[in-house]
Amino acid sequence: MINIQTDRRKNTYSAYHIAKAFFPEEEIEVTITENGKTPSDIYLQLREETGRNLPWGMLTGVRPTKLAMTKVKEQMPKEAFIEWFGKERFVSREKGAMAYDIAARELQLLKQAGIERDGQQASADGMANAAGQPGTYSLYVNIPFCPTICTYCSFSSGAIADYKDVINDYLDCVFRELDAVRKFCGIIKPTSIYIGGGTPTTLTPKQLERLLMKLRNDFLAEGREFTLEAGRPDTITEEKLRIAKRCGVTRISINPQSMQQKTLDAIGRHHSPQQIRDAFRLARSMGFDNINMDLIMGLPAEDVNDVKDTLVQIGELRPDSLTIHSLSIKRASRIFHQTADAQTVEQMLETAGAFAKELGMQPYYLYRQKGIAGNFENTGWALPGKECLYNILIMEEIESILAVGAGATTKMVLQEAIPAKEGRPDKQTKLIRIRNVSDIREYLSRIDEMIARKEAAFHPGEKDLKKQ
Ligand code: SF4
Repeated sequence: MINIQTDRRKNTYSAYHIAKAFFPEEEIEVTITENGKTPSDIYLQLREETGRNLPWGMLTGVRPTKLAMTKVKEQMPKEAFIEWFGKERFVSREKGAMAYDIAARELQLLKQAGIERDGQQASADGMANAAGQPGTYSLYVNIPFCPTICTYCSFSSGAIADYKDVINDYLDCVFRELDAVRKFCGIIKPTSIYIGGGTPTTLTPKQLERLLMKLRNDFLAEGREFTLEAGRPDTITEEKLRIAKRCGVTRISINPQSMQQKTLDAIGRHHSPQQIRDAFRLARSMGFDNINMDLIMGLPAEDVNDVKDTLVQIGELRPDSLTIHSLSIKRASRIFHQTADAQTVEQMLETAGAFAKELGMQPYYLYRQKGIAGNFENTGWALPGKECLYNILIMEEIESILAVGAGATTKMVLQEAIPAKEGRPDKQTKLIRIRNVSDIREYLSRIDEMIARKEAAFHPGEKDLKKQ
């Protein structure tokens, strides 16, 4: 147990996560004392004691590009930003440059999509507005079922076999939430739709068709992005892909994580690299021209050569985008002690990033997770024109995300009026989170409450949000 002393309550969160980043396997206790240190002093002390710099310095948040985005909008030059990030937050030059480049790319893509206009969000008077008027938003649907549960999983997914009896009820509840969203948004269609989980393609063809048809009929606008995660190749069939195509899905994700059979076995994914190749080629042959693949660096018992071999195999498939994750491990996970050290993960990330560049991809979004191996990051890479807008929107929190399903979190970006003061805008952005319960059966039994919470947030004047 390591005890960290900080100076005030509001610093306990940062103090805890800075210490945890240095000592991921240790229990950390934070106490507040008169002589306790500020987070930056804690970082500097631990850096001195361990002789280690953390790549993201004292940053504990999951969205380092948000800060970079602010500076890019203020037109701070790249070199000045890297200096500033290093001095203020102790972020390495390499990560500072990465954050800046990605923020600049995100801004460009948001402008192209008409969501950002020269420093002003198009959604500013959108969903946004505290009077409850709907504006631009994206829609997320959570399908929290998987064929088996991966040993490293940090989502609240359930094995499909345990829920077969309630899947149709689950979809009924999702539809009720969707109807509430539709009632609120009226004719306004989302900027993007994302079906994640879980593995949505664990649904039977009939269930999948029911869901996709509902989304197509009620929410999909011509030419908009519509992503279906089809993560596990053992859930992908020609019939399901045909349904997805017919219902307007524009982007799918087939996630190998690794192309090493020993690794797939070790992490509880009951499929082979050949099944990944087959599923990918099938989707391609059926006209899917935007296929993402997720990879994880730092999986148990993998070394850099395993990663290199995986990349060669992925290169043969030519995906349109790659999401390169650093392994994030739930506390006390049983694979914690078999994972790669920070230096190895760093090498893996560099190798994978260089490979994505070779394929002609550019990094376009980035986020971090708690407990991530080596305190690194997850980065989305894509060929030009194949970026996922939803991924940027969820990271930068500039448009409301209306989310349905167990464990889904709606994030409403509100513009609220603030007292006029010279030299500052008369509105400020406020974020309201509405979390659905994660437990699947509890979600079913409490669906009325989930809908009531949403409706209260949609019409804040009618109900007191604090009571939720
Ligand atoms: S596929 Fe994803 S959501 Fe499903 S168990 Fe594995 S890590 Fe969890």
